[in-house]
Amino acid sequence: MSRRQIAIVGGGPAGLIAAETLSRKGHAVTVYDAMPTVARKFLLAGKSGLNITHAEDYARFVTRFGKANDWLRNALDLMTPDDIRAWAAALGTETFVGTSGRVFPKAMKASPLLRAWLKRLEAQGVRILTRHRWTGFAGKALTFETPDGPVHIEPDATLFALGGASWPKLGSDAAWVAPLRAEGVAIRDLLPANCGFDCDFSAMFNSRFSGVPVKSVKATSAAGTTQGEFVISRGGIEGSLIYAHAAALRDALIDTGQAALSLDLAPGRDQARLARDLARQDAKASFATRLKKATGFDGVKVALLREVEPDANRLPPEALASLIKALPLRVTRPRPIGEAISSAGGVAFEAVDPHFMLKTRPGTFVAGEMLDWEAPTGGYLLTACFATGKAAAEGIATWLEPN
Ligand SMILES: Cc1cc2nc3c(=O)[nH]c(=O)nc-3n(C[C@H](O)[C@H](O)[C@H](O)COP(=O)(O)OP(=O)(O)OC[C@H]3O[C@@H](n4cnc5c(N)ncnc54)[C@H](O)[C@@H]3O)c2cc1C
Repeated sequence: MSRRQIAIVGGGPAGLIAAETLSRKGHAVTVYDAMPTVARKFLLAGKSGLNITHAEDYARFVTRFGKANDWLRNALDLMTPDDIRAWAAALGTETFVGTSGRVFPKAMKASPLLRAWLKRLEAQGVRILTRHRWTGFAGKALTFETPDGPVHIEPDATLFALGGASWPKLGSDAAWVAPLRAEGVAIRDLLPANCGFDCDFSAMFNSRFSGVPVKSVKATSAAGTTQGEFVISRGGIEGSLIYAHAAALRDALIDTGQAALSLDLAPGRDQARLARDLARQDAKASFATRLKKATGFDGVKVALLREVEPDANRLPPEALASLIKALPLRVTRPRPIGEAISSAGGVAFEAVDPHFMLKTRPGTFVAGEMLDWEAPTGGYLLTACFATGKAAAEGIATWLEPN
């Protein structure tokens, strides 16, 4: 195979895995990144343990990407959760399966893995040029802003792996949308995914409960029913339980202008038993005392009931039990995309061929979160970034040497 010049623009997990794949095949690979160092979001993900993939049955795993399940399937087959664990182990990072099936490095951070990975890339001859911000095209060339002025390059093939639009201060600011749209690339609007939501909470509730966890609840939306916990944020709700329902809530807000999460605040109890326990309480006792004795509720659950139904204290036991089992918590808007864990939207399915090559710009490929797919937290995001990065790299190799 002849050695070709390949530009990988974006040094997150999708770009770096592509650099690894293509340099191993003998190509001259240069990674360009706007930031002073690469993979900042990957490092941030490491701060919460680096949930690198998920160990559930693979047949179930591949259904986590919603409308993009079929689109991503070939890529996922190229880099499965087992492959990711083996890849990390080869870089000296052993992983373990947590109680929920989520897979983490034993070190619970990303930095040792990233260090070993960058060392291996360097040994394979990958050049990394930081402070190179891609700004657009000049005919066949890519244009970059650098501290030394503008730079134009004309590689044999290009991979864009520029990320989504969450946490822009880490580098992924979605400035790529305009130049790619100008090339006729179909791009769906970027929307917050795995995000918190604002609620119409009273000022008193906000000041008293902001930062307080609401533990062991079941939440139901169009996404189904899941059990877990969430946190009262300033003016709203956030946390892993909310992220699991974020896409359904966001889409309902877009489609109908309203959305609510149905909360079961007492998941361990059936409604009839709850009503009986509530009926046994002293009617003269305060609402909080009656609830505490009957259900063990802490202050935040009691206050949440009254935020949603100010007259909850006057409800008869059956109606109160019914409210506790299905509290309709209205959300008013998603938190801004810059605060989200990930983004939905991006380069559309119809804009690329099966190897993620742009139909309007042959030789230019796209991978990672900038493609139009979304998934819940749980290691699915990084897995799809690795998988599409690998698949696009294989696509580049085949495009350069079709025989
Ligand atoms: C707080 C947080 C925690 C997370 N935890 C997890 C987790 O535990 N598990 C999980 O699966 N996922 C997690 N994620 C999501 C995951 O980190 C991302 O999905 C993943 O990093 C996306 O990879 P990517 O390579 O597509 O893009 P990115 O990692 O965003 O990398 C894109 C790169 O492109 C560069 N770039 C952008 N624009 C330009 C430009 N114009 N020119 C040059 N370079 C540019 C950026 O500087 C960046 O280095 C988390 C995200 C956040 C915010």
